[in-house]
Order: sequence, then structure tokens, then C-alpha cells
Amino acid sequence: MALDRPLIFLGPPAAGKGTQAKRIAERYQVPHLSTGDMLRDAIAGGTELGRLAKPVMERGSLVPDDLVMGMVEERLSRPDCARGFVFDGFPRTVPQAEALDEILCRRGFGRPLVLELRVAREILLRRVAGRRMCTVDGEISNVYEAPPRVAEICDRDGGKLVQRPDDRADVVEERLLAYERQTRPLEQYYSSRGLLEVVDGTASADDVTRALVNIIDRVQGRDGHL
Ligand code: AMP
Repeated sequence: MALDRPLIFLGPPAAGKGTQAKRIAERYQVPHLSTGDMLRDAIAGGTELGRLAKPVMERGSLVPDDLVMGMVEERLSRPDCARGFVFDGFPRTVPQAEALDEILCRRGFGRPLVLELRVAREILLRRVAGRRMCTVDGEISNVYEAPPRVAEICDRDGGKLVQRPDDRADVVEERLLAYERQTRPLEQYYSSRGLLEVVDGTASADDVTRALVNIIDRVQGRDGHL
């Protein structure tokens, strides 16, 4: 399997982008490109990019566009992206979307299909409060929706379940604000180009996946090139 159009997941923190983007990438056997994961890896690896990104991420703001674009362009140049890819958490600003259009055109990747997961603010806040990350494999789970057998321990690998530092209530407020100010305009950017599809992100994870697959399979093979 492959994807003939790059996929972009749009939606606020805890809308389900990570979970769904991973599932979709697995189903179509293409790479899952999470800029948040790449930046967390850069921090863990102690790189220059990580050093610059860390304080910005800790306060819930967006990392500067030029740093993110350099990272994304490098990633897209690798051969595993040739059969398609799924972005998760990128683009997050209009300048990033414009720069991405230019890269997709230059590299012949075609027009993106943008999938927006829509979830009301109260639900997002509840999801974030219950969200935990496994310290062994970085998997995200939710203690409200699927409580682990032993408190704060991952069922799969026994790793400790921790709250992501930027999921703390005050930082989440900042992230939601960043979404409203900087990312929300992308809805208009992509819908005006006829590239946006909206999915109800409050349905069960399996129902959301089914809705996404229906859209992707319907749209595959259409609007192939910029
Ligand atoms: P995420 O894992 O997608 O929620 O991202 C976590 C944090 O990484 C965000 O709050 C931002 O600080 C940073 N980040 C991730 N993706 C981007 C992006 N495309 N542009 C700017 N900052 C980003």
C-alpha cells in the first residue's frame, strides 16, 4: 500500500492527531512524521536544535518556523518518503503551510489532503488531564479512558506512565492559545484550496479511524498534482 497524496492532520492538542496519524501511517505503510516527536528526540539527543526548542516547548509556544522547516525538509529528503507520508502536528502556521507547498511542488509530492479532527474545548481539557506517556516507548494513553492495571505503570511494557511536561494545565492553556492564534487560520488556508476534510474527533478512536480511511480511499487518485 502507499499514499498518492501527503496527509496532514490538523487539530488542537489532544484531538487525537497522534493516535490517528500513527494508525493511518501503519495502514498505508508510510512514515509517520510527528514534528513534536522529532523535537522531543532532538532534546533527548542534546542537539543544537533540541537546545533551542526546549524552552519554547516547555512554555507551550511554537518553535520558530525556520527551525521546523529545516527539520521537515531534511526528513522529506529521505527515501522512505517516496511512497507517501503522514504529518502529525505540522504545519502549524501559515508560513509553514506556504513553505510546505513550495517543498511539495519542488519535490513532486502532489497536493496534500488535510484531515481536521474537531473536538470541543471541554473534551480536550479532560483528555489532556488524563493523558500519560510511557517512559519506555513514548506511547500515549489515557488513564480515564483505559486505566492501567497497576496505577501509573504501562500495561504493555511495565514502563512508568508520566504526564508530558507540556500537558500541565497552565502550559496547555498556552498551547490552546497558540492553536487559536497561529494554527486555526490553516482551516481557511486549506479549505479555500479545496483540500480540507473535517472529521468528528469526539467519536471513539475506532470510529474516527474508519471515517478517516473512508475519506482517504475516496480521495486517493484525485487531484494528484499541484
Ligand atoms: P505536539 O507533540 O505536536 O503536541 O508538539 C509539542 C510541541 O512541539 C508544541 O507545543 C510546539 O512547542 C512544538 N512543535 C511541534 N510541532 C511544531 C510545529 N510544526 N511548529 C512549531 N512548533 C512545533
